[in-house]
Amino acid sequence: MIYEVIVDISNSEVDKVFDYSSSEDYPVGTRVKVPFGKITTEGFIIGKKDSTSVKTRDIIGRQDDFVAITPEMIDLVRFMKEHKNLRLIDTIRLCIPSKLRGNNVRELKKNFITAEADFEIAVSAIKKNAPKQLAVLERLQEGGEYESVLNARFGSSAVKALLDKGLIKKSSVVVRRTPYEGFVIDKKAVTLTEEQQKAKEVIDHNDVTLLHGVTGSGKTEVYMSLISDALSEGKTAIMLVPEINLTPQMLGVFRSRFGEKVAILHSGLSDGERFDEWLRLLSGEAKVALGARSAIFAPCENVGVIIMDEEHDNSYVSESNPRYFTHDVAEFRRKYNNAKLVLGSATPSLESYKKASDGVYALAELPHRVHSNPLPDMEIVDMRKEIRAGNNSMFSRLFLSELDKCIEEGNQAMIFINRRGFASFVRCKVCGYIPKCSDCEVSLTYHKEDDRLKCHYCGKQYHTLSECPNCGNKHLNLGRIGTETVVEELNKLYPDVLVLRMDNDTTAAKNAAADILATFREKKAQILVGTQMIVKGHDFSDVTLVGVLDADLSLYYSDYRSNETTFQLITQVAGRAGRDQKPGKVVIQTYNPHHYVFGFASKYDYKGFYKKESNVRETTSFPPYSKIVRVLVKSENEEKALTAARLCYNGMREIKGKYPGLFRVQAMRAPITKISNEYRFQVVVWLKVEDEEEVLPLLYQTADSVNKRGVVTFVEVNPTQMR
Ligand code: ADP
Ligand code: ZN
Repeated sequence: MIYEVIVDISNSEVDKVFDYSSSEDYPVGTRVKVPFGKITTEGFIIGKKDSTSVKTRDIIGRQDDFVAITPEMIDLVRFMKEHKNLRLIDTIRLCIPSKLRGNNVRELKKNFITAEADFEIAVSAIKKNAPKQLAVLERLQEGGEYESVLNARFGSSAVKALLDKGLIKKSSVVVRRTPYEGFVIDKKAVTLTEEQQKAKEVIDHNDVTLLHGVTGSGKTEVYMSLISDALSEGKTAIMLVPEINLTPQMLGVFRSRFGEKVAILHSGLSDGERFDEWLRLLSGEAKVALGARSAIFAPCENVGVIIMDEEHDNSYVSESNPRYFTHDVAEFRRKYNNAKLVLGSATPSLESYKKASDGVYALAELPHRVHSNPLPDMEIVDMRKEIRAGNNSMFSRLFLSELDKCIEEGNQAMIFINRRGFASFVRCKVCGYIPKCSDCEVSLTYHKEDDRLKCHYCGKQYHTLSECPNCGNKHLNLGRIGTETVVEELNKLYPDVLVLRMDNDTTAAKNAAADILATFREKKAQILVGTQMIVKGHDFSDVTLVGVLDADLSLYYSDYRSNETTFQLITQVAGRAGRDQKPGKVVIQTYNPHHYVFGFASKYDYKGFYKKESNVRETTSFPPYSKIVRVLVKSENEEKALTAARLCYNGMREIKGKYPGLFRVQAMRAPITKISNEYRFQVVVWLKVEDEEEVLPLLYQTADSVNKRGVVTFVEVNPTQMR
């Protein structure tokens, strides 16, 4: 038999299918060991045939006793290559736990002891003065136990003696490593409201539905009901949530509803846990895959429903190689399985909402919170006025008085700090000097814990400055507030109140995020200060106040979506307040109070915002009214990078001449001109949406053609954060 094999080497030269032979019978999808050139490597069988015209070598053997890649995923691998420019092997790697490669993870096996002889017979067969052996026998009457447990409790000599006599027996069993074992949040099953029921009907009758529901409108309950339906039809489900830190909470609720049928997939798990959860899905033992972006590659078969919660979220776009849009993969799997795809959000992406408006997606709406709780009252505070009134603190007077009230009444508050990128840079008050990374040209961020300046792009560290190297002034200012300074300030204001901090630094350790959230949920702390991480999905019933400090920072991202992002952030973070019985209050602090984003956001007017923003995008020809393709060209040699960028630009101009759907080409230095000693240029192309299918492959080809000799090119469609 001839087998078509993809070898596990990521290199465009070998990214094709190779023929191998074997007399063994291997199912398609099997991971095998094969000779390749002078080495042996792993490969994946993606097809079989009777003959080939090329000379073949023999497969050495199989790697697993299961079939790692399902037929659906093999189709997906081909699809991603053909339509999305991903290497075959790169998509395959997304479909398996990374440590499976090279057999660096395996099933955990433990010795398990059970009784062999009848209890009475066994008792009569041991010595009278052997109380430990007797205790073991008594214990085993209740059922089997791991050898290690028995050894620890009764001593290994007692266990060994019984084994030697053949009164008990040892076998090896597979132990599943379960992430967040025993973590269950009890949520009683609810009866769906009429609104929820209606939304479900829309979903049931359509292929793809955008579920636009305000925060707290009960979207999660709709998801769980859809999943229940799928399970009762004998199908499986994939449930995606944006951030890793959210998964534990959702997991707890899902566990209480679906028990062991749920498997969780995300990068925060240990290698063993991830492998076991993946295997449980592959074997069909688990039927609901719950996880972040990568869970869209879950090895579920016969999928009934795919849900993307917070569908607008940036994390659904894989920013690094291999770059893919989760929406594309979800759509492929929906079609393949004839499943339902649900995109849920309180603030849908403009792309998705436009599709719903154009009738490409069905639209289901949940405009009210469950039990008609009002959305929290939102106030915009002009921070310039605060300064004029002599308030130089990071908190406005309004926010402080609300916080006093909240603390006094025994409620909880969440404070959001928009820290991505711009926060806590150092600035000289006198001359305006801002220290930058010598490799990256990006402003450095001050880290108080180790008293260092750090570059967030390359990680390089610098000593803090005692005076300005430019003018000698000794009063250097922290440009923006960070989570640490806020916590410090709160500790001064409320010495008796426990304040939690949640950001990249405090959540680096495994389970740290879950611990912080649990502490807050148990009301051991009254204030939670955090970055983007605290924005989404959390459901705390006693949070009555939400504060957004520096709300306008995200307006200055070098990104065509910065208005959209800001609107989403504010709506999401506001949605954390007043979710249960108590009414909520939201205070938004800004230096730019008249920007239309704040006007629409404070009235929860998504449609108003959509209309306005959509207009702006249409007149400027930005997505969703176009597709933007950026080719990033990088090289350590500036000359080479420039030459390659020029070649790429000329190639694009040529395509433009043939296809009027490609209506604009620009080439320039990238917003960050140098990262980790690599010079960066970019060629940006605007395409009409309807021409994407036809033109995109040509753009990929052009970018690939300059991708050589010390130059790397990287293609992004609708890049989110250009830098
Ligand atoms: P969303 O996901 O839209 O933010 P959730 O699904 O988390 O909203 O629902 C908000 C709150 O309302 C949750 O505490 C949830 O348990 C509760 N809830 C949702 N639907 C119902 C219902 N039909 N009956 C009673 N409570 C509900
Ligand atoms: Zn740097």
